[in-house]
Amino acid sequence: MIRTTYTRVPVTTLASGAELCVPIHEMRGRDGPTLGISACLHGDEQVSTEILYRFLEEFHAGELKGRLLIVPVANGLAYEAVTRNTPLDMHNLNRVFPGGGEGFLSHRLAEVLVAHFLDKLDYYIDLHAGGAYATVDYVYITNAEALSRAFGSRVLFRPPQGYGYGGSTAHYMTAKRVPCVTVELGGGAVDQGAYVRRGVQGIVNVLRAAGMLAGDPVPPPPQTVLRTIVTLRPRAGGMLVPETTEVHLTLPRGAVLGRVLSPYSFEELETLRAPFERSLTVLVRPAICRVHPGDFGYMIGDLSTAEA
Ligand SMILES: [Zn+2]
Repeated sequence: MIRTTYTRVPVTTLASGAELCVPIHEMRGRDGPTLGISACLHGDEQVSTEILYRFLEEFHAGELKGRLLIVPVANGLAYEAVTRNTPLDMHNLNRVFPGGGEGFLSHRLAEVLVAHFLDKLDYYIDLHAGGAYATVDYVYITNAEALSRAFGSRVLFRPPQGYGYGGSTAHYMTAKRVPCVTVELGGGAVDQGAYVRRGVQGIVNVLRAAGMLAGDPVPPPPQTVLRTIVTLRPRAGGMLVPETTEVHLTLPRGAVLGRVLSPYSFEELETLRAPFERSLTVLVRPAICRVHPGDFGYMIGDLSTAEA
């Protein structure tokens, strides 16, 4: 007997009088561990919310062992504005965990997410995406390699100094030794259908690998584990005209990824090029778009330092 509930956990009242809440779907099966999944800690990564919508729509929980807690939108204000940061205080929610104290609104939101979601979990899947203009495709290996591999992506990333983003949910959970899978999947101005399907399959496979769903996990495809990923950040903002539009392409050093043009004069301000002898694209710009100085322009893995 599966019980499903939906709760809105209050965070605060906004100046407009609107209530800010954290939405949590809970599914309870037979006795077992609790696995949590969050989306839209960054409000412009909205394909992650679609993955959770499709997952809940398709999930047949008859054989669920344990409990699922699902937060489809962790930062409602950023979701509304389609922004990475919280519009009211300009903070990156995923850099302020565990929040609380005398903090801004984002710290208060983090505190509620910790108390009502993160601190209840035995496993955690942390969904991210490329935002409105970029497409990304890799999974971090932090403290649960088998589960990260079970998500089924072809490219993984083992950060050389461990998971680096202090104040993130993943940093908080790895410090608590809770197995944690951080996924970067989809985004950008292209059809998201394939990423949504892979996201749903990935969640099901992690549940199987964790023993919470019957059935053997589907073996992953051959996987490349990167040790080095660089972010190419444009020095000037403008109109990015991509020449490389696909993830998981291998390119030689110097291959043109995209050009930043002035959207006024159309003069070329900067050329972004593949930095390694064997460069692997993991974040790309699939269509012409605006870029800011210092944006995530492209992310490129170095295959010469990858694990076989
Ligand atoms: Zn993110």
